[in-house]
Amino acid sequence: MKGLQGKTALVTGASSGIGQAIAIRLAQEGCNVAINYRSSPEAAQETQDQAMQKACDGIEACGVRSLLVQGDVSQEADIRQIIADTIDKLGSLDILINNAGIQAEKPSHEVTAADFDRILGVNLRGAFLCARESIQHWLERGQSGVIINISSVHEIIPRPLYVTYSISKGGMENMTKTLALEYAAQGIRVNAIAPGATVTPINDAWTEDPEKRAQVESHIPMGRAGTSEEMAAAVAFLASDEAAYITGQTLFIDGGLTLYADFREAWSA
Ligand code: NAD
Repeated sequence: MKGLQGKTALVTGASSGIGQAIAIRLAQEGCNVAINYRSSPEAAQETQDQAMQKACDGIEACGVRSLLVQGDVSQEADIRQIIADTIDKLGSLDILINNAGIQAEKPSHEVTAADFDRILGVNLRGAFLCARESIQHWLERGQSGVIINISSVHEIIPRPLYVTYSISKGGMENMTKTLALEYAAQGIRVNAIAPGATVTPINDAWTEDPEKRAQVESHIPMGRAGTSEEMAAAVAFLASDEAAYITGQTLFIDGGLTLYADFREAWSA
């Protein structure tokens, strides 16, 4: 895609699922990729191997570079280090993909302050701090930049038993729009994708069980869950110059989940 070759992208939480697919896809498009992981270097290594394989397809010295960067996005000091390492070792930072995310099921009236801080600390505060650090870097250098937030259909669909997750993604929608407006004139674009039900480790509880999976998929107008690669394709587009005039938007990639499936048939004759 136009404008990705030679750029450098940082993908948070890139050792599995959607983040892994994004890192691989961006490398395939010619981007240098910094692959952030929190606790599993082997899985991050797998991302790196696949990314380089796709990028170079057997061509030695194909020009694409990659880096593994350990760090916890709920820790401000780690974020500073992740960004500094990316710039230091890959030479620049042009694209930030805020992908790292966690969720936990609990009735809302039992959610503790610690539960709240833990989920919001990764999903929203972590994403904001990564954005802030990247924007500071771009402003200092007078360069343009792109941020893509990996949100969720739950930025607009309420999710009982997952109030902390819903709040974090709702906040992400506002953050996407606010940052987009604040920095549009500086050439910094900020967008989000909102995946629907996607087959990744975060959903092991139902993806691994055929009965539960069929139950989940019965709610999706297109009749199936999405893949990480489908999410990554949209991210590559939004990061590229093909999307040069798009900012402040959330692209829903959900097989029609947000189309109110209950309205498929008339409710009364
Ligand atoms: P996943 O569990 O495979 O990926 C989440 C990644 O974030 C993991 O690699 C994890 O190690 C990393 N991570 C967690 N805490 C971190 C921290 N403190 N610092 C750094 N990394 C951390 O699941 P996924 O489905 O690929 O999720 C990726 C993003 O997509 C998340 O933000 C999630 O909310 C969003 N999403 C997923 C779905 C879905 O159905 N899979 C739907 C909507 C949105």
